[in-house]
Amino acid sequence: MTIRVWDYLLEYENERDDILDAVDSVFRSGQLVFGASMRAFEEEFAAYHGVRHGIGVDNGTNAIKLALQALGIGPGDEVITVSNTAAPTVVAIDAVGATAVFVDVHPDTYLMDTEQVAAAVTDRTRALLPVHLYGQCADLTALEPIAARHGLALLEDCAQAHGARHHGRVAGSTGDAAAFSFYPTKVLGAYGDGGAVLTRDDEVAARLRRLRYYGMADRYYVVQTPGHNSRLDEVHAEILRRKLRRLDGYVAARQAVARRYVEALADTELVLPVTAEGNTHVHYVYVVRHPQRDAILEALREQDIALNISYPWPVHTMSGFAHLGVARGSLPVTEALAEEIFSLPVYPSLPADQQDRVIEALRDALLKV
Ligand SMILES: *Cc1c(COP(=O)(O)O)cnc(C)c1O
Repeated sequence: MTIRVWDYLLEYENERDDILDAVDSVFRSGQLVFGASMRAFEEEFAAYHGVRHGIGVDNGTNAIKLALQALGIGPGDEVITVSNTAAPTVVAIDAVGATAVFVDVHPDTYLMDTEQVAAAVTDRTRALLPVHLYGQCADLTALEPIAARHGLALLEDCAQAHGARHHGRVAGSTGDAAAFSFYPTKVLGAYGDGGAVLTRDDEVAARLRRLRYYGMADRYYVVQTPGHNSRLDEVHAEILRRKLRRLDGYVAARQAVARRYVEALADTELVLPVTAEGNTHVHYVYVVRHPQRDAILEALREQDIALNISYPWPVHTMSGFAHLGVARGSLPVTEALAEEIFSLPVYPSLPADQQDRVIEALRDALLKV
């Protein structure tokens, strides 16, 4: 049996009654889009984070895009972010006509190197977009004063960090806005696409509600501002409501899997994930590092273990971002990482025997490379 880095089928088996009940309750409600489940989820998701407004949207990319627009960011503006991220972070910056400006990442945590941020600020910079990559927060404590000093918006990309904490503050509760994805693999995942934006700001929230609904205020039929259709549908909202109640349990299960890797692999040459001081890591992806990465992955493939790399190509090296004009060699930590990292399975329902097989195969491969 092939071991994959992520699989939802066991979780579905465990939660099937609740998931099917969620689907059935929506189908029987008479309202498939823009109904009670979306509104309830928005409130419950915002309450979980202690933030005033939650706005459900159709996916995480649009969550970032609409948040940027609602914060007033558009053509001619610069947004400081990282190249070591899932491409959608930068796709969204591009989509509003703004320009992504990259800083390198920290060599231990692989997160935004906040010491490089101040030097990247120009008179066109309008926002900081840290990515809470792999399941832990970028250094928000360092970013907040930089944003305040230069009058920049702080937008958190929380697509990989549901439930993560930074000095006690839950991811998504610090910035002017925070964008979440509920893509199925995520720590809080739907059974399809979904996303949300959180914000404390009433005006930003009102703009977001119009932007995701043709430019109309909810329930009225007049376009008030330019908008689009980016709604979170009822089925996913209701499933997410049910799963939100289990979020802390999913996180605990991921942390238990991560602890087992530390116990079993700390004495090897693999570089294991480093949790930054003050952070609680939710282990969305368990990223390890080794100079012989490709040979190790090949050896694992022979054992029917199919792992992947998050991410093999830094965003600035992709042909689709050539227009940003960021040369190879300009982000040395990010570029070196991409050659050496790979991800171990860490999802909550990962069977213990599969984890044992991964550990055994890895230890075996490490003796041979
Ligand atoms: C998944 C992800 C996104 C995009 O979310 P989608 O729901 O797939 O559009 C954005 N940023 C990061 C860091 C992600 O991991």
